[in-house]
Amino acid sequence: MQGSFKTEAIVLRSIRYAEADRVLHLYSSTRGRLNAIAKGSRRPRSRFGGRLEPFFRLDLVLYQGRGELATVTAAHTLDAYPNLRENGPSLSAGARACDSVLRLLDVAEANPAAYSLLCRYLSLLDGTEPGSGRSPALPEIDGAAGHATALAFRLKLALTAGFAPELASCARCGEVRELSGFSAAAGGVVCAACERGGFELSHEAHDFMVEALGNPLAAAPSGSARALRQAERAITETLEHHAHVQLRAAA
Ligand SMILES: [Zn+2]
Repeated sequence: MQGSFKTEAIVLRSIRYAEADRVLHLYSSTRGRLNAIAKGSRRPRSRFGGRLEPFFRLDLVLYQGRGELATVTAAHTLDAYPNLRENGPSLSAGARACDSVLRLLDVAEANPAAYSLLCRYLSLLDGTEPGSGRSPALPEIDGAAGHATALAFRLKLALTAGFAPELASCARCGEVRELSGFSAAAGGVVCAACERGGFELSHEAHDFMVEALGNPLAAAPSGSARALRQAERAITETLEHHAHVQLRAAA
């Protein structure tokens, strides 16, 4: 499809290219993953200014020619997430989120749920999510609460990519009681009789994952360090096994 088009997008990665250009790895609202070149954007008086940096949410006009890269012809800032940039834990959580999207959602196809999830998480890390009640100081992004929210983001991202683990019944036999293990190969929680080949999953870790998927991101449940570790292992192994994707540690 050649020609000009408009889309909203988040900059996942911005790479210096040639003498004065940038190559942008974008997650767009209308076409999913997209790569684009912004010519001359590193010149001092570039019309793009400083807005082609990671995490910016932009309104873009792009031109798709015959090559793989689209060309950025216009860019307007919709959200710069300025607080996120000034807060170390928010910045690294945002970077891990963008990295997860790069690894897990590499298809050039609209996925509105994934796009709005990423926007919502960046707003939350910026302290501007409506109704989150967070101050721009963002103390909750650090430590256990930040880890819990990062895992909730990953679980929801896995869901938008079609890789959410089975949590309601044993992924091997369908049993709904005594769900005490997790098996990535089976695709989710497993009962005591089917636990072989999986690992032990506490009730707390299981509940955490169910609530994290059911609640809005801003209301991610809390969990003990042990439960969060188990939940992270379950998510990580599920994505390795089924999506063939290895994510960096969540926190
Ligand atoms: Zn079973």
